Parts: sequence; structure tokens; C-alpha cells
Amino acid sequence: MKTSVIGFPRIGTDRELKFASEKYFKGVISAEELQETAKTLRIRHIKKQHEAGVTFIPSNDFSFYDNVLDTAFLCNIVPARYKELGLSDLDTFFAMARGYQGEKGDVKALAMKKWYNTNYHYIVPELEDEAEISLAGNKPFAEYDEAKAEGISTKPVLTGAYTLLDLCRFTGRKNREDVLTDIVKAYKDIIKKFEERGAEWIQFDEPSFVKDLDENDKAFLVKLYKGILEEKKNIKVLIQTYFGDVRDIYEILAELPVDGIGLDLVEGKLTAALIEKYGFPKDKTLFAGLVNGKNIWKNNYAKTLGVLNGLKEKGIDTVLSTSCSLLHVPYTLASEEKLSEDYKKYFAFAYEKLNELKELSLLAENGAYENESSFAKNAALFKEKRDCENKEVQERLKAVKEEDYTRLPKRSEREKLQKETLKLPKFPTTTIGSFPQTADVKKNRSAFRKGEITEEQYKSFNQAKIERVIRWQESIGLDVLVHGEYERNDMVEYFGESLDGYLFTEKAWVQSYGTRCLKPPIIWGDISRRKPITVDWSVYAQSLTDKFVKGMLTGPVTIFNWSFPREDVSMKESISQIALAIRDEVLDLEKNGIKIIQIDEAALREKLPLRKSDWYSEYLDFAIPAFRLVHSKVKPETQIHTHMCYSEFTDIIPAIDNMDADVITFEASRSDLLILDSLKEHNFETEVGPGVYDIHSPRVPSVDEIVTALRKMRQKIDDEKLWINPDCGLKTRGEEETKQSLINLVRAGEIIRKEA
Ligand code: GLN
Ligand code: ZN
Repeated sequence: MKTSVIGFPRIGTDRELKFASEKYFKGVISAEELQETAKTLRIRHIKKQHEAGVTFIPSNDFSFYDNVLDTAFLCNIVPARYKELGLSDLDTFFAMARGYQGEKGDVKALAMKKWYNTNYHYIVPELEDEAEISLAGNKPFAEYDEAKAEGISTKPVLTGAYTLLDLCRFTGRKNREDVLTDIVKAYKDIIKKFEERGAEWIQFDEPSFVKDLDENDKAFLVKLYKGILEEKKNIKVLIQTYFGDVRDIYEILAELPVDGIGLDLVEGKLTAALIEKYGFPKDKTLFAGLVNGKNIWKNNYAKTLGVLNGLKEKGIDTVLSTSCSLLHVPYTLASEEKLSEDYKKYFAFAYEKLNELKELSLLAENGAYENESSFAKNAALFKEKRDCENKEVQERLKAVKEEDYTRLPKRSEREKLQKETLKLPKFPTTTIGSFPQTADVKKNRSAFRKGEITEEQYKSFNQAKIERVIRWQESIGLDVLVHGEYERNDMVEYFGESLDGYLFTEKAWVQSYGTRCLKPPIIWGDISRRKPITVDWSVYAQSLTDKFVKGMLTGPVTIFNWSFPREDVSMKESISQIALAIRDEVLDLEKNGIKIIQIDEAALREKLPLRKSDWYSEYLDFAIPAFRLVHSKVKPETQIHTHMCYSEFTDIIPAIDNMDADVITFEASRSDLLILDSLKEHNFETEVGPGVYDIHSPRVPSVDEIVTALRKMRQKIDDEKLWINPDCGLKTRGEEETKQSLINLVRAGEIIRKEA
């Protein structure tokens, strides 16, 4: 049986691409040197897949930042302000991704959004009315040729035209119908170029096909693909979907003149049922997404082979595929030296998944696979009972009552009380928590981990840092302070380390955006808090100042969403267990004199089902109460903050208000403050701090720029409810730019107070 990989990680087992890119940004290495690293990685990845026997190996899945941006760039969807900088192609691309501030100008980055229900982020292309869409680049062809020169024929991968337009922001009067002809022409030209090269297949990624699609969408999709495929001759086209099922357009896809359809049989709840109900077209190949590209547990061979057999019996021409790109899992278990075999035997990262594809394809061809050792080994693993239960946790959760989800008194009364007791000025200024994680901070942490310094030494270093950052915040006049989060590696792993039921990795990095990678921990079993986590740091920071220092925690939904979840219990169960653990921490902070506690839910939106019809029943109905469970028992005067990255909650504003926090800070600067209208419309009750500048880019916002943003905010938000803050934590930024930015933020606040 043939096998296919939808996409492969690109950052490198040792994050080589990250480090090379960062050096390039700093001017330490040249563009040629960066290209060299990129090429080495691409070839390594393609060879790895080739050696593992993968039939359809992706090319052009590499990117210096993001594949959606690559495709937009390829189609000349580049806003004029970036072209006008007059930079090289590579630097224009980076200017769109990260912003540009230098000799040639000062331009912000394009918006960045979460990639469907993952923690990867794509760059939102902007389509201006003046844009002249056409095939304008060479990247996919060059990468195809590069692999070919190594003797490997690949399957080039591009963001599909429907998804590309779905993700674009149209900034003028035009809509997708207006650009149909041009986009069709561009994609036709792409196909032609691959035909000339003799490519056998081309893959168009269309994850937007798993969303709710209406009649307009369907009609557009048909027009689009009929156009694109019109002149196709001897190349095969695969429409690759993932992250769900294509229930709205299954029959339409079956009719399209494509050669392959990629369907997700892991996350697509209805995929199997659709095939059952409508059959699968005889003239097409099914790329059956059965090896999970998002999670790290081993594939259950008996189950997968059962599905493959079913497809075979129906006479469907099937290729065994990953369920989505392997971008979302780490490279290899081989890098994990500390994790015991007892655990490792349950997992498969990207390299190991290649092996699963191979074993499964061999077994699928073999009628009597029960006797094969690869099958027997796998079956034995799934029979074994994993040591992962904690009765106490299960009992505690069962004992939770309805009232444990409700904080009293109601928010309006708390607001009054908090204004009286906290006595904060109008438009309080604050930050989101972390301050720059400079090299010395990371070094201190790693020295402690390696046992090179004592706990005392580790602590006193961090305390000195905390003292410095407290003094510094005081000196520039911020109102609500933070301790800086120097103890954290990241916002989930750090908490996970003090929770029972969690497992950790050493090198299991997964790309989050651009050069940023995260190491999601693994939820292995039932979860409980072993010991207080942040209390000492917060108490120490508060002891240094008369201003309030926010306690700083990560919320249960985010901890869950940024971990690799179990596959044997429900999401609801795991999130609720984590909520109880974090609740212990909240109450400990309060007991120790912390008056303002921020519980970050950076990733709340992430696992929101892609179909609206599932939003509440499959997610919000338990995720939002879980957040309330965390803070429901604090005193009325204790102010609970939450923070969400990105403001993509326009459509779930009532749910966000239902978290019943007192204050929420969120990103707004990269989405043109559109969110504010919706907040007003919905009578949003929670106090709000819409980020006044973008921290994902190194540029320093001017005072004027922040004042302008604040004036706009005041038109939509009550003065009594408005906070002033950056849009996210500052840990990835440099110290100098951070200082300058915050000084400007405080100045802007002073100007606004005078105007009010
Ligand atoms: N408190 C965290 C920080 O400041 C929040 C990070 C986040 O939202 N991603 O780093
Ligand atoms: Zn954030």
C-alpha cells in the first residue's frame, strides 16, 4: 500500500532553522548562509522520508516563516507598503511576517492568527484592490528541483486556492469573486510549471473545506476548481483536507475533476460515515488520514487496519496518509534521553510515525497480519493497562457541585468593592507578565537544571532579577506590576512540572510561529498539584513594593490545549482535573496576600471546534465553567484577571464574559481594533485591556501611535473599564526595545488621563 505525508516539520531537530533565522535577523549571518541551512534541512527531511519508504513525500512544505504567506507571496499578494520598502524578496517576505523598522522605512507586520484548531500560527495575507494576482515566484519549483537533484521525486504542496482566499483579508472593496479569474490563472500556471517538470502529483491543502460551508461557498468552490483544473493534462491533483470532515461538500468533491481526495479519519468525526453513505468515486484515489499528525500516542494498528480493510472491501483505491501535516508533532523520540522506555513505548513522534506508515502499509497488504511481529507488539501495547490513574483526583472531581462554578457576589458589585480597596488610577497601566528572558536568565535556569548551581544560587539570581524589574516598573510609573516570570521556561511546561500526571520531554519542540517553538508536555494520567508553584516568587515580589504585583498563573484550558492530550479520557475530564489543581494555587496566592491574580487563558480559542454547531456542546460548555471553577472561591476584593492572545473571540464574546473574570487583556493591535465594536455591541461587562502595541515584533511603538489607539478605544469602551497594556508577554523581546516601548506606553497613558 502506498503512503503519503502531508507535510513535515521544518525547524530542525536542534532548531537549526530557528537559530539561523535569528542570526540572520540580527545581521550575524548572510542571506546565503541562511539559505544554506534551509537547504540542508530540506534535503535531510526529504531523505529521511525517502529512507522510510514514504511514497508521496511533500516538497515546498518548507517555509522561512509560514506556508500561507509563502503562497500569498507566490501569487503576488503583497501589500504595496511592503513592496515600497524596496527590499530583497527574502526581506520583503520577512517584513510581512515580522514588520520592518530600519533605513528603508517603518512598517508593521501583517496580522497573525491561529491555524485552525492548532497552536501553529499563520500570517494573514492582505489582498488590496490594487493587487495584481499572478504567479510571481519560484519557491515551489526550486524546492521540487532541489529534491529531484537528490534523486527524489516529490509531491509539491501548496495552500489551496479556496483556503488561501478564505484566510486572506480583503482590505478594499473587492471580494473573492472579483479575484477569481486572476487566482485561477495563477494556479493554472503553477500546475503547468509542474507538468513541465514531470511532477506526478501536486497537493493543494484545503483545510477550510472542513468548516461550515454555505451555498455561496460551495458555488464558489466549484467555479474555482473547475477553472483551476480546466487545462490540467498529465499531472494528478490531490485536494488535501484535514482537521475535520467535509460533510458539507463531500458530494461536490467527489464530482470535481481531481485525482485524489485527502480525508481526515482521525479528527473527522463523520469521514467514515460519509464514505459509507455516498461511497467513494471509482476514478479517484483516497488519501486516508489515519496516522495522527497532531498527537504523539502510538497508532492502534488493529483499529487502523480495520479501517483500511473496510476501504479495501469497498474497492477504494487507498493511500495511507498522515491525518494532517507532521508539523504539529516533534521530530523524534530518539532525542529523548531522559524519558524512560516504559513511557516512550507508548509514543510516536514524526520519525516514528514514518515507521508506523511503513509497518501499517506492509501489514495492510498482508492478509494474515495477526502473526506479524510488528502487529503483535502493537496489539500487546494496547492491551496493557497503563499506570495513569489517581483515584483521589477522580473522587475530588466527582464531588464538585454546581455552586463551585459560581463566584459571588456578582461582578458589578465586586467591581465597586475592588475600586474602593485597590484604589487604582483611571486607565491603569500594566504588562501581561513576562519580561525579556535574556541569556543570563536562561543560563541560570539551565545551570540549576543540570545541577551546576545550588537551589539557593538559582533563587537568589532570580530574586535579584525580580527586584530589578520591580524597581524598573516603579521608576517608569506602571500601576500594576509583575514579577517578570524569570523562573518559567514556558507558560505550560512550568506548571506541568509541579503537577502529577504530566510527562516532559527534552527536545520535543513544535513550531508555534516563525522562529518560536514550544515543547508541549504530555498529559499521561490523572492530574493534581504536588506543591505550591508560584507562591514564593509572587510573595517575594510583593514584599518589595507598595504597588500591587499580579500573581501569574496559566489557566486550565490553556494548560490542556498546549499539552499533548490523553486519548483514553475526554477533554472535559482532563481540563476539569487541571482546573482543580490550579484552583489550589489561586487560593494559596490569595492566602499569602496577593490581591490581583492573573490566570492566563492564552489558548482558550484554540480548540474551539471548527464548526459553529459544535462550539458549545463540544467545548465552551465545559471549558468556560472550568475557568470559573479555578477562581470561584476567592474573596470579592481579590481581582481576577485573565489574558488571551489574539482577539479572535468576536464571535464568542458572551462566553468570554461568562468566564466571570474582573479584567481581561488581549491582543488587538494586529487586528485593527475591530474587536472593540463587538464588545460594545454585546455590552461586555469585564474590564478590558486591549493591547496597545504588538509585542511579536521588535519595533518600538511611538507615543503618538499608542495615544491614537487609546483614543479609538475610549470611543468604544467606558473609561471606568479601560486598562492600558501591551498585547502579550514580553519574554521574547530584547530589553532595550521593551524599555522604550513601555516608557512610551506610560507616557501615552498620562496624555490620555489628561484628556479624560
Ligand atoms: N503571562 C504570560 C507572559 O506574559 C502570558 C503569555 C501568553 O499569553 N502567551 O508571558
Ligand atoms: Zn498572550
